Amino acid sequence: MRNWIYTRLQTIKQSSLYRQIPEGKEQETYFTPATNDYLGLATDPRVKKAGQEAIERYGTGSTGSRLVTGNRTLHERLENKLADYKGYEACLLFSSGYLANLGVITALADEQTTIFSDEYNHASIIDGCRLSKAHIVVYRHNDMEDLEEKLKSYRTERKKLIITDGVFSMDGDIAPLDQLDFLAKAYDALLIVDDAHGTGVLGDSGRGTASYFQVQPDVLIGTLSKAVGSEGGFVCASRYVIDYFIQQARPFIFQTALSPANVGSALMSLHLMQTENRHRILQKKVAKVRKALQTKYTIPASEALTPIIPLLIGSNQASLQLQEALRDYRIHLPAIRPPTVPEGSSRLRCTLRSTYTDVEINRLIQALLEVRQKL
Ligand SMILES: *Cc1c(COP(=O)(O)O)cnc(C)c1O
Repeated sequence: MRNWIYTRLQTIKQSSLYRQIPEGKEQETYFTPATNDYLGLATDPRVKKAGQEAIERYGTGSTGSRLVTGNRTLHERLENKLADYKGYEACLLFSSGYLANLGVITALADEQTTIFSDEYNHASIIDGCRLSKAHIVVYRHNDMEDLEEKLKSYRTERKKLIITDGVFSMDGDIAPLDQLDFLAKAYDALLIVDDAHGTGVLGDSGRGTASYFQVQPDVLIGTLSKAVGSEGGFVCASRYVIDYFIQQARPFIFQTALSPANVGSALMSLHLMQTENRHRILQKKVAKVRKALQTKYTIPASEALTPIIPLLIGSNQASLQLQEALRDYRIHLPAIRPPTVPEGSSRLRCTLRSTYTDVEINRLIQALLEVRQKL
């Protein structure tokens, strides 16, 4: 009776969907062109030093939630800088991007709300939508005609939200935020954009996908755990909307404030993102790798050069075989399988860093072409 868990595990294994945490040792020693540290800031000496200094000054833990004992000038400084960087009145930190999505969506949506959500949105958006108990309408990926049709058929007094990733995490393509902004205004919906992967890499000084399209969504969500190289989430909006989240967003209210080290290092990263043009270097490298691999791999097109290069394989097993073959080259490039991506679209999700050398880039290209030849 109680061994249904074991049975379920066997089923997962049989369909090549079993997940294992890759060995730490391997990740430390192998070349890993799959991280979200797109600008190499997670190991930048100045960023590490800023984290250490924050620990020296404020300690290792923040000791409580922001509303009770956890707030420091460091948190306030980072929120102000992020709001400036993204061009908003105000910003609020969360412990992660995942929790920022949960907080924002559950604060804004309830049973009386309809949420229009792109079919490829990140799991944290999907979970936020479910938790909110709103009526969820999924539109086809980046399909504005489908979205408009759905907006038309829900012309009621219900509250409406349109939610999308800025850069889609598994495909690397971007949402047409100019058109989404237009539709949101035309149909009286709030536009919420999760730009976890766009922050630091697209637009002027890497301000993100909204900057790329020169639009300002009502609510902009981001993470400090990707290009910023730290950890934590954030939300930008008008002052009164942020004030509302402080009242209503449970992951903000009931969680310990971000640790001083995370905040201190993020502040330094943000400074470097605006003073060094790392995102331009990154884009050049992405263009080179895309071009070199296109002959042997199916790589979906993307309007903007994001650091995510999806190598579509299809079957779970073939993706795992490629992952295994790359180990001979001491390259760790994990296969991405359902339910992270749709059935039949397993892939290698290759990502680059602005700090990769030409030697590293060439080695990666050669290895990927060779393993493809063999399998
Ligand atoms: C990674 C990611 C998140 C989660 O961010 P964390 O800070 O890692 O919790 C949320 N949304 C999108 C689109 C992401 O890619």
